[in-house]
Amino acid sequence: MPNPKRRHSKHRKRIRRSHHALLMAPANRCAHCGAAVKSHRVCDNCGRYGFEKGGQKGTAVLEKQEV
Ligand SMILES: [Zn+2]
Repeated sequence: MPNPKRRHSKHRKRIRRSHHALLMAPANRCAHCGAAVKSHRVCDNCGRYGFEKGGQKGTAVLEKQEV
């Protein structure tokens, strides 16, 4: 088994890991109300799902309840 000849310094390790940061997942916009929505999820704001198709802005999936 090949082994490393020298240990890497903290500096080398940190340089290597400088590319490991996670990015925020890009948010989509709801076709109906324009709120930020995760992909493949129903909109939290208006309860519709999907994109604009043939003049129809998303499919109504959930009824919004008044609290
Ligand atoms: Zn919406």
